[in-house]
Amino acid sequence: MDPLDVKVAGLSCRQVLGHLGDFLDGDLPAETLAAVQQHLAGCQTCERFGGRVATVVAALRGGSGAGGDVPADAHTRLLAHLAANRP
Ligand SMILES: [Zn+2]
Repeated sequence: MDPLDVKVAGLSCRQVLGHLGDFLDGDLPAETLAAVQQHLAGCQTCERFGGRVATVVAALRGGSGAGGDVPADAHTRLLAHLAANRP
């Protein structure tokens, strides 16, 4: 069985991934949101899957966490990176 099809808290990882976009946009209905959060809290596959998912979730839980806070020099570094890689 595909590990992504294992159900935790009534949702499979695949379903959770499908919801992730709406989850991040805050567009999920409350009950779906709760189910996704329960899944992420209890699912080892998603836990392993990433720090990434966990980081995003932590940022969302923390409110004004990593989500809105871009390091002050990120924009400058990005521009420098783009300039350096321009054909
Ligand atoms: Zn999962």
